[in-house]
Amino acid sequence: MSTTDAATPETLPPVSTDSDVAINAKPMAEPGFYDSLASSVLAGETISREDALAIINASDLDVPAIMAAGFRIRQKHFGRTVQLYFLMNAKSGLCPEDCSYCSQSKVSNAPVPKYNILQRDRLMEAAKLAHERGAKTYCLVISARGPNEREMNAVESIVPEIKAKYDLDICASLGLLDREQADRLFAAGVDRINHNLNTSENYYGHICSTHTYEDRKQTLENVRDAGMEMCSGGIIGMGESHDDIVQMAFDLKELGVHSIPLNILNAIDGTPLEGTQAMSPNDCLKALAMFRFVNPDREIRIAGGREIHLRHMQPMGLYVANSLFVGDYLTTKGQPPQADYDMIRDMGFDITTNIEPVAR
Ligand code: SF4
Repeated sequence: MSTTDAATPETLPPVSTDSDVAINAKPMAEPGFYDSLASSVLAGETISREDALAIINASDLDVPAIMAAGFRIRQKHFGRTVQLYFLMNAKSGLCPEDCSYCSQSKVSNAPVPKYNILQRDRLMEAAKLAHERGAKTYCLVISARGPNEREMNAVESIVPEIKAKYDLDICASLGLLDREQADRLFAAGVDRINHNLNTSENYYGHICSTHTYEDRKQTLENVRDAGMEMCSGGIIGMGESHDDIVQMAFDLKELGVHSIPLNILNAIDGTPLEGTQAMSPNDCLKALAMFRFVNPDREIRIAGGREIHLRHMQPMGLYVANSLFVGDYLTTKGQPPQADYDMIRDMGFDITTNIEPVAR
């Protein structure tokens, strides 16, 4: 009897050739087009909005050339390093806002956990886990329009303890902040605030009516003026146009944000965006690459939705992005951390917890 365990044809799973992803095979760009754009960016020039649109509108057949050109830019600023972030949903559900993509909003029927800000021991346990998983940054998130006094006090008191015990940067995502709140968080040792622009100013009214794009921008300006780093990105795949995505990329550049998380809409059942058509993996890659060309020296993170939209092409995203969330997202599952570590290692990249902020 053979000792090999090769499967016989009868035992192989059926091969599926079905695909809901149509390849966009429109005409390719002139040879060398993306490479010459990358050379301009590497020489310190800002690409035009037309060129940014050309990247995101490109033929799928151009994706290898786009990723190779984008990798040159990534390589210059971040080498082969990958930074890991760990998300902690410190307060879930219960949000009075109506963001249509969000499972925690007042208009969502998604069955998400609902709890007020967690006790200190739970937040410290999560910080320990973030440290053990090799994360550089612990992201404390609450679902809220903005923090109330109790939530401010909880964050102010736990941040020094986490930083004293674990070698972690702290990013807080607490909703809208006024200048006084931003000053208090800076004084408590918060390194960075996350507050996503989410989409363009033009499209903002389609995804939220309880606050404005301008409110979000003002929060980021308060964060910047208080002396903290700004983490701000968005969500693609919500029905916006490519112009909207390009506009957001340039707005983030103009604001000078340090870190850009790019989510790909996970259209959660029970949210108003349930059933929204998914983006193809190639479209996700082109959008990620466009952000790298527009924001060459900024940290770009493939955030929520990467597993379900990039699927087998997840590793390619790291040719232009340089960071990931490890573990679960706020209300949805991520892939197991070991799968991320394996992917990073197989690509010949290294996890880093020690990277100097880029010059601004
Ligand atoms: S403010 Fe934040 S938590 Fe609240 S609905 Fe909008 S995205 Fe969700």
